[in-house]
Amino acid sequence: MEKDCLFCNIVKGDIDTEFLLETEDVVVFKDINPHAPVHLLIVPKRHIRSINDLTDADRTVVAEMLMVGKEMAAQQQVAEAGYKLLFNVEHGGGQRVFHLHLHLLAGKDW
Ligand code: AMP
Repeated sequence: MEKDCLFCNIVKGDIDTEFLLETEDVVVFKDINPHAPVHLLIVPKRHIRSINDLTDADRTVVAEMLMVGKEMAAQQQVAEAGYKLLFNVEHGGGQRVFHLHLHLLAGKDW
């Protein structure tokens, strides 16, 4: 946990946020500024700054994030119609919160 990290504080429960799902390793909540009718964030509980900081030890949690993304798409009833699973990587890739997260976006015509 990083003291000044927004998503660490959400994971800890210090910022009131409804979790749509919580597993041992990840939480899922709605994006506060949605870019599509369905816009969820799948966030590891452990602080990982960015895709660029992943190590071998993170293989399990990254697989869990993808599986939860797939499961949340089904739960939100967008699996068949289709959806995006997206990592923004570093500032140039659009990353603004430096705690790893996977965007699940669906429900609009791209
Ligand atoms: P990124 O640009 O990939 O770093 O995405 C960060 C995302 O976090 C953005 O889509 C924000 O809208 C979202 N976000 C920022 N603060 C919150 C919050 N308190 N609760 C939910 N989502 C948030």
